[in-house]
Amino acid sequence: MNSRARVDENSCSGHGDCVDVAPSIFRLDDDIAEVVADGPVELLIEAAEACPAAAISVVDADTGEQIFP
Ligand code: SF4
Repeated sequence: MNSRARVDENSCSGHGDCVDVAPSIFRLDDDIAEVVADGPVELLIEAAEACPAAAISVVDADTGEQIFP
């Protein structure tokens, strides 16, 4: 399944754990994580679980249905 991450910019603290886990999906821009690509659901959930601020949610890229949390 192709999934899409969303970052709550008000919660993101910019330490980049998501970039460490999934550098193909996230990059830091002015200390806020930006989503640059869709990706496999397992990887996006791993990144979301690594986020200390719980700022990442994951949705189905096709339907928009929330997958995580
Ligand atoms: S891990 Fe979470 S808090 Fe840290 S940069 Fe990524 S989205 Fe922001």
